[in-house]
Amino acid sequence: MSDINWSSLPFGYFKTDYNVRCYYRNGKWGELEVSQSEEITMHMAATCLHYGQEAFEGLKAFRGEDGKIRMFRPDENAKRLMRSADGIMMAPVPEDLFVEACAKVVKLNERFVPPAESGASLYLRPLLIGTGAQVGVKPADEYLFMVFAGPVGPYFKEGFNPVKFQIVKDADRAAPHGTGTIKVGGNYAASLQSGFRAHAEGYANCIYLDPSTHSFIDEVGAANFFGIKNNTYITPSSSSILPSITNLSLRTLAEDLGLKVEQRPVAIEELKEFEEVAACGTAAVISPIGQIVDRETGKEYNFGTEAGPTSTKLYNLLRGIQLGTEPDTHNWNYIVE
Ligand SMILES: *Cc1c(COP(=O)(O)O)cnc(C)c1O
Repeated sequence: MSDINWSSLPFGYFKTDYNVRCYYRNGKWGELEVSQSEEITMHMAATCLHYGQEAFEGLKAFRGEDGKIRMFRPDENAKRLMRSADGIMMAPVPEDLFVEACAKVVKLNERFVPPAESGASLYLRPLLIGTGAQVGVKPADEYLFMVFAGPVGPYFKEGFNPVKFQIVKDADRAAPHGTGTIKVGGNYAASLQSGFRAHAEGYANCIYLDPSTHSFIDEVGAANFFGIKNNTYITPSSSSILPSITNLSLRTLAEDLGLKVEQRPVAIEELKEFEEVAACGTAAVISPIGQIVDRETGKEYNFGTEAGPTSTKLYNLLRGIQLGTEPDTHNWNYIVE
């Protein structure tokens, strides 16, 4: 793969050699199958096409300087996909099947796992869809679970620099007691308009508020929010936030570094008290936030033009664990052999 310029790769689809698939029929999961096709065929009345029975995951595999390939916490993605499946009445994918499928896709596409020094990684996209035919509103009786993968470039090509976000009150990504806590395609469809408008208005994305009162921070685009003040890592709790595995990991690392950790509602007004604020998720690990503008009132919250010291420390530590240069004290890495 010497012809790939790893460090300039975008975050996008990249054709690799293989994907893996598993079908749920007659009440049970079949064998894991290897495919070279980029296509799937399905019944035109499949429930994923009509009633949104679709959930997905996203995780990365990294090649370390020691040559080992590490997947970051695939067991957590497996558990989250089970919660997503339960939330929209799909057949759950057992944890060992999920992890086996991910490891297999990495192994089969080993030549696409970027070299350690490139800053790039192999992104894995597991998905679960209802393939059984229904016209009445009912869950399918057949499902397809598949995992494909492709190399993606480093998220920060121009350095670990803060970006701008826009608070919106006229759009929600999920309902107060809806599907916000699970990783389903429907939430993404619901965020497309507001996300595109934020881009058009010059922002990286929008910040969604709690959908019932629009006074607390929920999520930053498709990433979780955290703020730092008084040696404390603060991240919102809400009934419409998707629990990020990056955020879960950062809370543990923050405690390791001697910070206090709080998970509780975060009011918009509290923004002015934070020393650092950031978005977190698999794609970037941490995206420092330099400015937040309330689209309705025009009020600005500024956090400087450089990443704060705590965000930088957390970022370096988590990246180091993923790349095998920092000790994996919590046993998060799964080594692909
Ligand atoms: C996937 C996702 C995240 C980030 O989760 P990670 O497990 O850290 O990648 C955050 N918010 C939303 C809405 C998501 O879909």
